[in-house]
Amino acid sequence: MSKSFHTKCIHGNDISYDHTGAVSVPIFQTATFAHHELGVSTGFDYSRIQNPTREHLEKTLAGLEGGLDSIAFSTGMAAINAVMAMFEDGDHIVASADLYGGSLRLFRMVAMKKGITFDFVDTGNIEEVKKAIKTSTKAVYVETPTNPMMQVTNIKDVALLTKEAGIKLIVDNTFMTPYFQKPLSLGADLVIHSGTKYLGGHNDTLAGIVVVKDPDDLDQLRLIAKTLGGCLSPFDAWLIIRGIKTLPIRMDRQAASAMILAKWLKDQKWVNKIYYIGLEDDPGHETMVKQASGFGSMISIEVTDFQMAKALLNHVKIIQFAESLGGVETLMTYPKTQTHADVPEEEREAKGINDCLIRISVGLEDPDDLIEDLDQASRA
Ligand code: PLP
Repeated sequence: MSKSFHTKCIHGNDISYDHTGAVSVPIFQTATFAHHELGVSTGFDYSRIQNPTREHLEKTLAGLEGGLDSIAFSTGMAAINAVMAMFEDGDHIVASADLYGGSLRLFRMVAMKKGITFDFVDTGNIEEVKKAIKTSTKAVYVETPTNPMMQVTNIKDVALLTKEAGIKLIVDNTFMTPYFQKPLSLGADLVIHSGTKYLGGHNDTLAGIVVVKDPDDLDQLRLIAKTLGGCLSPFDAWLIIRGIKTLPIRMDRQAASAMILAKWLKDQKWVNKIYYIGLEDDPGHETMVKQASGFGSMISIEVTDFQMAKALLNHVKIIQFAESLGGVETLMTYPKTQTHADVPEEEREAKGINDCLIRISVGLEDPDDLIEDLDQASRA
């Protein structure tokens, strides 16, 4: 029977691991699985390799993204690290210039040391991507929209290039989730998530997921995951499964609140610039309308001066000044000293990540309360 996205979020995986009729998938809190006799396995051997609770999550998310399967890791960074392990000395990757700071740090501090080279370009500009692809290029790595500047890449356009070049297109879909954007259906080969964000949705769990559509990629990544470790624990897998059950309603409500907030922020004298892809005059808006069914709930603002940034961060009462995003609690992040602290200052400034930039992840509180909170903090 075919299932809609909402139904798949609740009943994502058809495999039953239990005979009791438990409505909630059990947490198989076990490190290992006993064998009845030599050469006979229940299908599960050791939880680093696979665990039923984790498998339930992996099948559910693969179904939501339209992939063949997915592999769940302990964090988003562990997932990205596993994807980087698919490449080797001499391989070249074209990546979005504006990326989550941790991804940049991983590429520069770990992947480059293994002999993988990178060109960081504006992947929203297809000519730049085309120019950067060379014979040693093995993949294009895109975050769209980017963290924190909300730059948008046309996934379909880049996929045409990667198909022609016979290389992989990897998309970090953390900000949109499959509810709003399905990169595999637009031509991507691998989709990455920090499950810590919208999938989990409650600011209480770390997780990372890679969704694949090619059986060879799946085999390679399963071997990498088994070898590197960094797998998602059964309990954390269960928390992400639970989070996904309410993903569509959270995403809809958070996006609606973000739109209300963005429109209000745009009119404030203390806001110099606003980066929200839901606003019609945002440079990424047109592409988002084509490739996604919603705009998400991430807003970045550049305020008038550092004093205003400080006032907001220090005086919000409902909104919390904390790293991370995508949860039910509205968070305000200061990329300069938090998510992008390890990006060299000159590069950070050039990207617009200056001491006036604040990123807001809009949660599930009443948007009027959030507006009142921002208003009082701006006057503090
Ligand atoms: N990708 C994006 C877009 C992120 O924003 C983050 C974290 O903020 C990550 C990946 C890394 O995820 P995690 O913090 O779960 O390791």
